[in-house]
Amino acid sequence: MKGDGVAIVMLGPPGAGKGTQARKLSDSLKLPHISTGDMLRESLKNQTELGKKAQQYMNSGALVPDALVDAIVAERLDREDCSKGFILDGYPRTLAQAQALQPLLDQKHRKVLAIGIEIEDSVLVQRLSSRWSCPKCGKVYNAQLEPGKRNGRCDECFEELVQRKDDTEAVVAKRLQVYHNNTQPLIRHYQDQRAYCNVTGDQPIDRVFEDVKKLIENHK
Ligand code: ADP
Ligand code: ADP
Ligand code: ZN
Repeated sequence: MKGDGVAIVMLGPPGAGKGTQARKLSDSLKLPHISTGDMLRESLKNQTELGKKAQQYMNSGALVPDALVDAIVAERLDREDCSKGFILDGYPRTLAQAQALQPLLDQKHRKVLAIGIEIEDSVLVQRLSSRWSCPKCGKVYNAQLEPGKRNGRCDECFEELVQRKDDTEAVVAKRLQVYHNNTQPLIRHYQDQRAYCNVTGDQPIDRVFEDVKKLIENHK
């Protein structure tokens, strides 16, 4: 499978499986996986200026202001490893962010393909309350899918897995609301550009991945 020159945008509510699928795609297409959530959590952990500014928003499940996120993405996309394409996960999340992204894509003659993982809210709350992740490499696990991992360590770097602070019921409810208000309208935005495709998220991880790969092949 080839994905040269394409900007893939993973869309979907929190817990839909964007990170899981983006990571698999990144391995298979050899394109960088760019997750704004991961980048922001890293700045938070290191208490950089950005991290300090983003903290209150992230902990409450609100969106970090567009200008802050736009800036880190623009800088990231400028790096050499993005020259053949990239996979965006968690960005854009607002229409304003999509508008900030567009000229960056146009400059590089990059075609965008937005892949929406569609799934009902009720499944998501379950998934997020059993999500565990590696603080070092960002790999995501699920205590229900892989019960053995619950007290375990990352397959790849042996770090102890942690639960995200914003995966509590109250914060998840807020994040879902933010998704429906701010991010869901992007579906229409990419449909208007004939650049939107969707997959059903409520199937086993490998099935979803098969569907994602088909979309990319058909998009050529
Ligand atoms: P997102 O990046 O969209 O928030 P993640 O990829 O982090 O979602 O997945 C959220 C949780 O659901 C994780 O614990 C992950 O292991 C699990 N998960 C992801 N895809 C599936 C799937 N197809 N079926 C069941 N669980 C899944
Ligand atoms: P999810 O698993 O819910 O899809 P992410 O890891 O992508 O979550 O994002 C976690 C938090 O980081 C969000 O709730 C938000 O506070 C912040 N964030 C991530 N990406 C963006 C973005 N593009 N714009 C604004 N805030 C963002
Ligand atoms: Zn790891």
